[in-house]
Amino acid sequence: MNFSDSEIVASVMANDDHRLVDQAADADVIFLNTCSIRDHAEQRVLNRLKELQHLRKTRPGLVLGVIGCMAERLKEKLLEHDELGMRVDMVAGPDAYRELPQLLADVEGGRQAMQVILSADETYADITPVRYGGNGVQAFISIMRGCENYCAYCVVPYTRGKERSRDPASILNETRQLIQAGYREVTLLGQNVNSYRYHGENGPVDFTALIGRVAAADAQLRIRFATSHPKDMSDALLRQMAAHPNICKSIHLPLQSGSTAVLQRMNRKYTREDYLDRVRAIREILPGCAISTDLIAGFCGETEEEHQATLEVMKDVGFDFAFMFKYSERPDTLAAKRYKDDVPEEVKTRRLTEIIELQQALSLDSNKRDVGTVQEVLVEGVSKRADSHMMGRTSHNKVVVFPCATSRPGDYVQVRIKECSSATLKGNCIDH
Ligand code: SAH
Ligand code: SF4
Repeated sequence: MNFSDSEIVASVMANDDHRLVDQAADADVIFLNTCSIRDHAEQRVLNRLKELQHLRKTRPGLVLGVIGCMAERLKEKLLEHDELGMRVDMVAGPDAYRELPQLLADVEGGRQAMQVILSADETYADITPVRYGGNGVQAFISIMRGCENYCAYCVVPYTRGKERSRDPASILNETRQLIQAGYREVTLLGQNVNSYRYHGENGPVDFTALIGRVAAADAQLRIRFATSHPKDMSDALLRQMAAHPNICKSIHLPLQSGSTAVLQRMNRKYTREDYLDRVRAIREILPGCAISTDLIAGFCGETEEEHQATLEVMKDVGFDFAFMFKYSERPDTLAAKRYKDDVPEEVKTRRLTEIIELQQALSLDSNKRDVGTVQEVLVEGVSKRADSHMMGRTSHNKVVVFPCATSRPGDYVQVRIKECSSATLKGNCIDH
């Protein structure tokens, strides 16, 4: 999400005659695009801000700005030198990126500037992101902004504002431009993409319709999407995925907890059974589809049985991959107001370790099932570990490393999988 936002910021700045530089030391303006999701993310931003202060010595007039979620959450607190122990020149929230050139003008002469008003309709639909730092094969397309689900632990509804969907015509335009530029994979991005709904002149367009249109743009373009909320994962969307071979057979479906009582406290709006019912539908309509998830260890009041329930569901589903976190209380969220963050740190750590260890075993099982099969791989580039090897991904979003001197980024190649670890598949190219 932030990567995609940074591409929008780069575009706004390029239109104001600024250009990107490779090193912070060469910049006149530095924006840190920030995340508030866990305390750790914010601490890292503060450390980075501290590190960057020394550049003021060599670059007088340097503008240091904090943009994104942390800017929205902390607002003027980030401008208070005494509070923060360092100077920040500018603060801009996630809906203020169009105003960055104006804010830059405002800070001239050593003043500070801030814009953190959230919008009900900003989607940056007309801004063509500047694609930088990517591999030229995969790109993100932001299709909606904000979130109104108010999961009890989550800061996003406060930092990113109301949910709003972007005009499908602009999404399709961006898709076509990417195809023209040689891209082979797009990921449709939003906090909760399966609740996408755009009310246009010709009636509403939902996510199922949108992804069908994007998939029809080019059969050679792979489509992924993230993130889906289990409560909005419809059979119609699964059937749409089945109907289009170029929609990757991989679904990221955050579970968060396997205990219905915890899910209720989290305000997730589904039970363990509801979640398992969606997994059943995926298995039925999309046999073999990969399922990945997000899990939180040690949410408020989580008992040992409730933690065990998470491990059980993980085993039942056999997730292919997971992002796993320790619960981190965020100020002003429902959980911070209603519940005590009462699971001791060492218990959170132990539960997270159990979750990670189980997931490693499940990922290894999943990868072992692929050994001996032939997978279609979209080549992304040279493997970081071994120059002589290429790397790419399967439709299931698994990383494959293989020797193949003749393949180029953007090629589709058939790879016979020979071996695996819990993180990677290794094989040989069979059609080059
Ligand atoms: N919109 C997406 C995910 C947003 S944040 C969704 O609903 O699934 C990504 C992940 O961060 C969440 O799925 C959750 O697992 C984790 N997360 C969010 N807030 C957190 C918190 N306060 N502590 C720990 N993990 C958190
Ligand atoms: Fe946060 Fe829940 Fe919205 Fe995801 S759906 S961004 S976890 S509030």
